Amino acid sequence: MSRTGKYFAALVIGLFGLGHPSTAVALNEILNIRHWVAPDHTRVVIDTREEATFTVEKGGRRVALDLDSIALPHHLPHQSLLNKPGLEAITLSARPGSGIRVVLSLPAPLQSNVFKLKKFQDKPDRIVVDIVLPDAAKQERDARERIKVIRKSRVVVIDPGHGGEAPGAVGKNGTLEKHVVLVIAKKLRDILNKKEGYRAFLTRDGDYYVSFKKRLMIAREYGADLFVSIHADAALNRGAHGASVYCLSIGAASSEAARILANKENLADAVGGVSNGEGNDASDPIILNMFQTSTINQSRTFGNLLLKELGAAHRLKFATVQEAPFRVLKLPEVPSILIETAYISNDKDEKLLKNRDFNLRMAEGIARSIVEFLPPLPSIPPSAAVSEGAVKPRIPPVEKPGGGEKVAAAGKRSPDPKPHAEPVRKEKVKPRIPSVEKLKRGKDVVAASKKGPAPKPHTAAAYRVKKGDTLAAIAKKHGTTARVLAELNRLKRPDHLYVGRKLRLPEGSSPSKGR
Ligand code: ZN
Repeated sequence: MSRTGKYFAALVIGLFGLGHPSTAVALNEILNIRHWVAPDHTRVVIDTREEATFTVEKGGRRVALDLDSIALPHHLPHQSLLNKPGLEAITLSARPGSGIRVVLSLPAPLQSNVFKLKKFQDKPDRIVVDIVLPDAAKQERDARERIKVIRKSRVVVIDPGHGGEAPGAVGKNGTLEKHVVLVIAKKLRDILNKKEGYRAFLTRDGDYYVSFKKRLMIAREYGADLFVSIHADAALNRGAHGASVYCLSIGAASSEAARILANKENLADAVGGVSNGEGNDASDPIILNMFQTSTINQSRTFGNLLLKELGAAHRLKFATVQEAPFRVLKLPEVPSILIETAYISNDKDEKLLKNRDFNLRMAEGIARSIVEFLPPLPSIPPSAAVSEGAVKPRIPPVEKPGGGEKVAAAGKRSPDPKPHAEPVRKEKVKPRIPSVEKLKRGKDVVAASKKGPAPKPHTAAAYRVKKGDTLAAIAKKHGTTARVLAELNRLKRPDHLYVGRKLRLPEGSSPSKGR
């Protein structure tokens, strides 16, 4: 649809002025009307030649937009029956004077969100109508929350960059980043879901735009152990090629190239279109500061494992993990990595990105490094193996356990893990990360406590907060990290750290001196 749309748009601009010599210059024009279906909303985008003035009338089963000083377009159907979720039809009609009315017919009275987007890069001025599918949105959120509660597997959230209105980088032969990264992301999801002890989910599984804020929210709602954003790079220098790996930097980028790339990737919300308020950074800066050092260190550890695998599957553009302030990597508590799989602007790389074997090789390499970084949790019952779709996980509803049950349940399991139904590469199963490093990864506290002969809840010691303490300092004193302490004590913000508060310490943390 968008391709035809572009063609029409080009045609209209090309013929501009021929049809209505007296009025064409004065009147605005509708260039195109497109729509995108996401799991929780359907988006209608009206492209206009100039910024449009309009009023909105919502009520019952329709949204009506009255546009001023705009001609009824002749290149677009005046009635389109769509029968999409949340959207039955779009009807255009002339209003007295020189305006037109665009009516979206909905299958039921639904909430909608109407906003304008200004000209940006190759996008014209736009009117965006998001029709919210409330049941779908709630079901998705509930399903994600259930995954977090069950917690028998490693949860990996895979984020295919861009989508919908935002095509991302474009190859010389017209290959779009948003399409190729979705292919790799889906392959990666399927590979991980076939492995026992892993569940992988996508932030989008179709061609629609998801805001940065929503991507991070999805990862958070799943309780992700790891967030992997997949992209393809482009450069003016058509010779540039190869894969690269990025993690978040709080300050300056590690190189000028990394800074430019982050700036470019960070524009996705502006291209993809997000309504007011959704464009802000999702992360609370206080929380971000509290966790970021530990999380970024873990991200870098994972990034190095990734580079080894990507280097085997493809050439590397940079041999080390690069750093830049990518908005999509700003989840304070989840190790997050952005992969530029190849240069879509390079002829050879563009061909590779469309090649099935190459995409499979990349996905397998990424999956191997994930398994190496995040070995499966111990004692996984065979029933935990799943291989279902990403956005609508269909798992039986479970009762939400009370506080602390996560730990107790892990302790109750048989100490003898059942053999994996599917052989996992042996050398990858054994944890390669030293135990101190393991303790640093918050959720591994449970796993670490199982190593001893009698698994106990990890609350061997406690610490009473003194004046002048910071979470980071307390953590350092006890050989752990602020993130582990915050998770263990369910601290949401640093201001919960009042003097006299008793903090649980992870088992195995070194005793504090002078206490
Ligand atoms: Zn990208």
